[in-house]
Amino acid sequence: MIKQFVPSEACLKCQGCCRFKEADSVWSPCLLDEEVLGLIDKEGIPAASLSMNRKLQLIPSGEGDGFLCPFLSPQENKCRIYHLRPFECQLYPFLLSLRNKRVLLTVDLNCPYIKENINTPAFNEYIGYLTKYLNAPRQLCTLRDNPHILQAYEDVKDVVELGLGDDSK
Ligand code: SF4
Repeated sequence: MIKQFVPSEACLKCQGCCRFKEADSVWSPCLLDEEVLGLIDKEGIPAASLSMNRKLQLIPSGEGDGFLCPFLSPQENKCRIYHLRPFECQLYPFLLSLRNKRVLLTVDLNCPYIKENINTPAFNEYIGYLTKYLNAPRQLCTLRDNPHILQAYEDVKDVVELGLGDDSK
């Protein structure tokens, strides 16, 4: 599990995460291959909960426009599979962005906690931790094996380039 930068109290007060404007939003979680197998085989999640591109199939929010992750409990504002939540969800509000064949660690400036804490000493310390974590051989191997999770996000701030090497391109 990735150590979190945003405290859970801040997350529980916010209604930004796990909700999406479009059914096929680029922001919806994309799963690693091993996470697909884990959710289907071990947790009995129906394969229909996943799209062909290994994304969680979003469901209409039922309150006007918008879509929800099928694992969000909107009443409690909590993830029902928190202990098993995908790598991308653990990483958020940081994201792995693919741009011009470069893999960048980026951060979502729409996260209110990030807005308040970007470039603080604690933020910079966390970036050091996260960069080391993502550049560890095991993680690099996972990312090379799952190039589908590298996506093009808009309105994110670049933090640092990751050294995935030529075979990730
Ligand atoms: S799996 Fe959990 S943390 Fe990830 S988007 Fe869905 S509800 Fe949110």
